[in-house]
Order: sequence, then structure tokens, then C-alpha cells
Amino acid sequence: MKAVKPHATGFPDHSAPGPGEAGAFTISACPEAHVALEWFEHAPGFVAFLAGPDLVFAHANDAYKRLVGREHLIGLPLHVALPGMAGQGVTGLIADVLARGERRVERARAVLVPGADGGSQLRYVDFVIEPVPSGDGEGIAGLLIQGSDVTLETISQRELQFSLTHDSLTRLPNYALFRDRLAHALQRAARAQGLLQLAAFDLDMFKRVNALLGRECGESILREVALRIQHVAGPEATLARESGDKFLLMFEGEQEADAAKRIQDVIEAVAEPFDHEGHAVYVTCCVGGATFPLSGQTADSLLLAADRALARAREAGAGMLRWDDTAPDGAELERLRLGFALREAMARGELQVHYQPQLDLVTGKPCTVEALVRWMKDGEKVPPATLISVADECGLIGELGDWVLRTACTQAVRWREIGFSSLRVAVNLSARQFSMRNLESSIVKALSDTGLPASCLVLELTESLLMENLDHAVESLFALRKRGVQLCLDDFGSGYSSLANLQRLPIDVLKIDRSFLQRVPEAEDASAIVDAIITMGHSLGMRVVAEAVEREAQCDFLSRNMCDEVQGYYVSGPVPADAMTEFLRAGVGLAPHLLRFNRTRPTLLLVDDEPSILSSLRRLLRNEGYRILTANSGSEGLKVLAENAVDVIVSDQRMPEMTGVDFLRNVRQLYPDTVRIVLSGFTELQTVTDAVNAGAIYKFLTKPWDDEQLRGHIQEAFLYGAMANENRLLTLQVRTANQQLAAVNHQLESVLAQQRNEIERGEISLDIVHEALSNVPVPVLASDDIGTIVLANRAALDLFSGHGPVLGCDVRQLFPGLPAELPEGTGFSFEHRLGDKRFPAELRPMGNGSHSRGWLIAVTGRELDTAEH
Ligand code: C2E
Ligand code: CA
Ligand code: CA
Repeated sequence: MKAVKPHATGFPDHSAPGPGEAGAFTISACPEAHVALEWFEHAPGFVAFLAGPDLVFAHANDAYKRLVGREHLIGLPLHVALPGMAGQGVTGLIADVLARGERRVERARAVLVPGADGGSQLRYVDFVIEPVPSGDGEGIAGLLIQGSDVTLETISQRELQFSLTHDSLTRLPNYALFRDRLAHALQRAARAQGLLQLAAFDLDMFKRVNALLGRECGESILREVALRIQHVAGPEATLARESGDKFLLMFEGEQEADAAKRIQDVIEAVAEPFDHEGHAVYVTCCVGGATFPLSGQTADSLLLAADRALARAREAGAGMLRWDDTAPDGAELERLRLGFALREAMARGELQVHYQPQLDLVTGKPCTVEALVRWMKDGEKVPPATLISVADECGLIGELGDWVLRTACTQAVRWREIGFSSLRVAVNLSARQFSMRNLESSIVKALSDTGLPASCLVLELTESLLMENLDHAVESLFALRKRGVQLCLDDFGSGYSSLANLQRLPIDVLKIDRSFLQRVPEAEDASAIVDAIITMGHSLGMRVVAEAVEREAQCDFLSRNMCDEVQGYYVSGPVPADAMTEFLRAGVGLAPHLLRFNRTRPTLLLVDDEPSILSSLRRLLRNEGYRILTANSGSEGLKVLAENAVDVIVSDQRMPEMTGVDFLRNVRQLYPDTVRIVLSGFTELQTVTDAVNAGAIYKFLTKPWDDEQLRGHIQEAFLYGAMANENRLLTLQVRTANQQLAAVNHQLESVLAQQRNEIERGEISLDIVHEALSNVPVPVLASDDIGTIVLANRAALDLFSGHGPVLGCDVRQLFPGLPAELPEGTGFSFEHRLGDKRFPAELRPMGNGSHSRGWLIAVTGRELDTAEH
């Protein structure tokens, strides 16, 4: 036995022997022993002292005797008089105390004590078992057991706790407890990426059982149903009674099929007959099942999903099971996993922003870069559209959007610092981001935190996003626009925004949807639409950008049709920030012939399948100052055209793969401004004439040709082309001017709208001033700069009530005391006589000093006492 350390417990020192109970055993004779005995007798609750190495009862108060159900204890060994206790019994506890030499406190331990009827009774006790050290500090003198009966408190506390969380009829957890357990189980499942099945049971037509067989019968059936479900579902499942005849059951970590099988068993078990006064009663139930994570990821959404399924089960008839059919397939599970991975990737900073330049078609230089988010997951690029929708689904879109915005703004500031100070950065906004309440403030904050001027930020919004949130949209767009942020309507044409709606919005830029661009300039309808969008955008005062521009022919078309900016692989795909910096530094720009006003050296394209003819034509024309390009087939000619600006084309008619006419027809569609000449023999005259009449060919020349004539015709063609070009340029200039005008108008309209607003507000405040003035008890009048009364308040009208009309008459007529020349600059007091009454009055010029805009007259006091004078 371990040596026992002395305790500072306040317990009496039992080491000294004293008078014991009936002399059967002596504790100690020292004076402290009396105190100890006194204390024993009056101690609250029960006390027993066991003495000596053998631990025999040396003392026990009445309460202790009642507790263990024995009258005489003194001298008896420990084990005969201990309360019974389940688990680690009191004997065990005592052994523990002796071994450690430390006191042990037990609270609300359930003990079995002898009952009055001879049986045993459950009580709850708090108690302390404490070793009492011997005087010499070696070993122990005895053991003290002390405590109190807390049965009543414990039971009422436990009852209360239980009744708050359980259903009193079935003793099952109630809805609140179930929901809580479900929420915890969901956390576990989410951590382990496991499954969880939830089922909602509802008894069919149970109200009828209640009504016909009585409430008592109903209640006993409910109790029985609870037992059956619990029994079949097994001890691992959590069952609860939600309300009335509805139960909830949850299986953790189980596959849907296994759970469905178990639930089917439950349905069958419930359907077994119940006995009511010797008669069989049949009750069936419907069940709705839902699965985590497919049907929902929160306790509420899962409960809702189970309820939805239950409703469908009920519709299907009594005894049916339905599983939540929104439960999606593997692809969606994949998305869910993607959501988890995204959360982690964001936390680890694994996302990137790439930038794609937009080039101005007038200057040919980058004017804006669009920020596009990038996520490489396991070495593969997650499509941004998927990324955005997953972020949206798992509530990360706000954080993601804000991160992209800040990253892009920070980068734009860096570019400004190295000299690209007029470069704008465009950031895409998602629908969810757009409908967030704090959109405006979060953007303003990002701008101020990063130091980017608002005018350098473009926000890209899609049509559908705007149309869904139109009212909210108008308000927050105006607020952002007012701060100088530019707004771009992305993917324009893909949605269904009406012009009327577009006009309501403060949009600065239209970005034409890629679907139109794809077929430009080959498809006429698409080309016409793009042209129309550009014209419309311009007439609304907006700039127009084309995205997904992949070929020169598209760029050429856009430039000729007044598009303002191009973006696409033709210029550059989206690249990391560093590569973008390189791109900017390198001064990459559009080739001059693609710019709106810049056309280069006259260029001639010769197409013939015979190399000898090509070279003789080349020789013939080499000193004419043209840039000469050649191709030996129609298709090669198209390739050359895609990469070069060409003014005049001379093509042979008879070529093996594509005739000259067919080639030039094609060219006409792609490059309508080219001047096209065909060289043909007389035999093909009919085809060629048709082509001339259809406008595909400007001229046809016959083979063999006359050198001088050919040179002359080509010169003429260039002249014609130059004129057409001049015309086109003129048109472009006019259209550019118109566009600028429209843009100014657009801005003017905003300003006007704002002014209208202010005027309205001004009118309201004017009304208030009028109202206030008319209520001033002192007569007040105002005249204009020539002295005509324009305003008089109520008191003034009263004062001059006998005078006739006040407004419109001359101030000197009303106040004869005033000088003919009213003073400028300073005011003065004067006396106003009305009949034989006299009033003190004051006149003050209005406006700012030298150029008064009229006078204000106030009769400042009551009638002066005539006697005074
Ligand atoms: P978007 O706003 O229309 O972005 C332009 C998309 O066109 C980008 O696709 C870009 O890589 C692609 N693209 C660029 N040049 C060409 C071209 O010449 N041809 C073709 N066919 N495509 C071209 P990406 O990066 O895959 O982004 C797809 C969409 O995801 C974006 O469409 C945008 O709606 C969204 N997105 C990307 N980043 C973000 C972001 O940070 N926030 C939000 N809310 N959405 C973003
Ligand atoms: Ca965009
Ligand atoms: Ca777009």
C-alpha cells in the first residue's frame, strides 16, 4: 500500500484513538475525537468511518445506516455495508482510493439501496471516499465515506433534460434532438466523404385509427410502431418521432440500396397486425428517403428532400417508398468533389488569373486586358465556366470573385507603374456576385485598397444576368458608373435583351457574342448581324468589342465595319501576367492595313496556275509601284488574302481546282472592297459575263493580253479602288464622328437625368421655402432688380389688404418712404407709414453685393407708438 500524504481536507485527525460506538471499537480518547464524533452526528447527509488496516466500521451515522439498510454496523467489515452500484462498484472505488492514496469524488452515482418492501431501490448519491492518514504519516488510519442523497434533484434534472429532447410517448428522441444529431452526423460524413441516408415515415390514415378506436389505442400503436422500427432498423440507426404519426430514421455510412432494403423491411414490420382488445388492427406507412450528399448537404435541405419524397410516396398510395428523385448521378457527385477541391485550392492559393488583350482598331494597340480565372487541377485545366458554376454552388463565388477582382486591380496598378497608364482591366462578374448586396461597396473597396482609378476598371456582365436582376441592376450599375467604373455587356446577342432595356442601362461597351463572329465574314446573315450590332451600339453611344477573333479576315471585316476593339487568338490568347507584361512591352499591335484609317501600299495579287504567266505578269508590272503577291490556285489566293491587305486581284479563269470566277466570287464575300479582274479566253465569256453582272468581277480581260492595255486597266482598277477606299474612309470618318456624337449624347443624357433629378429636388425645397416664408409672422416682400414686387408672404398681404394687388406693383408705390433710386450694396432701416400708422421696416439688397438681383423688405416690428413722436 502506498504511503498516504496528509490532507488539508479540514477533516478531523482520526489517528488518535477515542471513544467508539458502544465500546465495540475505540477510535481515540483524545479531545479532538469528541469533536469528530460531534461532526459525524451533525454532518449533513451520510458519514461512515472505517478504521484500521482491515477497515472495519468504526462509526456510521443514521443516514448511512438508512442508506445501506442496516441498524448495527460497528465492528463489521467494509464489504457488508456498502451501497450497491453498477459497473465499477463502491468496492472497486475504495480499492482505487487506497491504491492511489487520494480522495475520490463521485457525483450523482446511481446506487441500489434496500427498499421498504424488501426489494432494492434506485437512488442517486454524491459521495466522497477519502483515506485518512495515520499520525506518523506512514500508511492510513482509516477511510471516510461521506455523501448525500441527491435522488430528487438528479431525477428532476434528468427528466427535464430528457423531456426537452425526447418524445414522452415513445421515449424516442424528438425532432430537435434528431436534427442536432443529423447535423453532427453530416459533419462526420462530410469529413469522411461518406454517405448518409435519411427516411421520413408517415403512418397512413392514422387519424382514422385514432378516431375510430380511441386515442389510447392510437397511442399504444404508436409506441409499438416505434419499437418495431427501432428493432428492424437496428441499434446503429437513429430513430426519432417528429410529431403525430411521423418518424425520422437515419443511417450513417450506408449505401442507398442497403438503406432502401432496410426501410422496406421496416415497412413490412409496421404492416404486421397490431392487437387491440383481441382484434387485429392494420396500419401501413409511407416512406420518403433522401441521401447525403446527393439530395442535400445540410440537415434542413436533407429533411426537406425526404419530405418531398414522402409526399410523392403518399401520392403513390399506402405503404409506398419513394426516394428523393432530385438525387443526381455520378457527374454531380463529381461536381461536389470538385467543390471540395476548389475550397482547398483557394485556401492554398492555387488559382491564377490570366490576361487577354483587347486591341483598339484605330490605334492598333492594347487598350484593355480581360482577366480570366485559371485553375490547374491535377495538371488539367478546369474549364472556367465549370469552375464558376461550382464556386457558385458551394458558396465560394463571392470570395472567388473578390479575389479575381483584387488580383486584376493589383496587376493593373503594376502595369500603370511601368508606363501603361491608360490600360484598362476588364473583370467578369457572375450572376451571384452581381446580386450580392454589397457589390458596389466591395468593388469600391477593392479599388481603394489596390489604388486603381475607377476609370481603369471595366466590369463585364452578361445579358441574362442583367435581365434577371433588371431593377437591382439599374440601381447598382448607375451607382458604379457614377464612380467612373465602365460597364461592358458581355456575350451580347446571345441573350434576349430588348433595346428598350439596353437603353435603360448605363452600358459603355458591347461585346459581340462569339457565335456571330464564327461565321464572319463568310456568312452574310452573320456579317449583317455584326454590322447591325456595331451600328446600333454606336448609335447608343457605346463602344463595340468583338471577342473570339481568330482570323485576319474577321479582323479586317470588323475594322471596315467600325468595330472599336478586337480580342481573340488572332491577337493573343489569355496568358499569365508576366507574359502579358512582355506582350505590352514588346509593343505588339495590329498590322497597319487592319486599322480603321490606315491603308498601306497598293497591293496587287496575281493568281494563275501557270508559273510562266505569273512571272511574265510580274515582270510587266514590277515598276508600277505596287506590292505584288502571287498565288497559283484559288485556295492559295485565299490564304494570301487572309494574311495581307490586297487592293486589286488579277486571276486567271481556267485553273484546275477552282475557276477564277468562283475564286473571285468567294473573295467578294470575304473582301468586298477588293477590285477583282479576271483574265479569260473568249470561250468562257458567258460565265464571266454572268459574274460581271453579279458584281463579283470588276473587269474581264482577254487572253492573250496586250501589255499596255493590261497595265492601263490595272492602273484604272487601283484608281477605282482608291476612290472606293476614299469613300469608305469618308464614310468611316463620318460614322466615327457620329459615334462620338452619340457617345457624348449618351453621357449628356445621364447628366440631364441627374439634373432633372436635382431640379425636382430643388422644386421641392423651393416649395418648402415658400411655405416657411408664408408662415413667418413678419410681413416680408421681395422685389426684382427694377423694384417690382415678386413675392409677398401672408403677413405682408394682410398688411396691405386695403391696397389692392401687391404682387406686380412697384415697391416704391407700396413704401412711399423709399427713395426713387434704391441703394445697391448695403441695406437700411426706414419707417413705413400706412395711413396714420407707422411701422419700423428694413430694406436689403439681394444677391452678391454690387449687382443686386432685387430687394428684400421686411416690416420688422409692430406699429410704432405715435405718441413717441
Ligand atoms: P468570356 O467572358 O466570354 O471570356 C472569353 C472566353 O473566350 C475565355 O474563355 C477565353 O479564353 C476565350 N477566348 C479568348 N480568345 C478566344 C478565341 O479567339 N476563340 C475562342 N473560341 N475563344 C477565345 P475561358 O477563359 O475559358 O472563360 C470562359 C468563361 O468563363 C468566360 O467567358 C467567363 O464567362 C467565365 N469566366 C472566366 N473567368 C472568370 C472570372 O474570373 N469570373 C467570372 N465571373 N467568370 C469568369
Ligand atoms: Ca468576358
Ligand atoms: Ca464573352
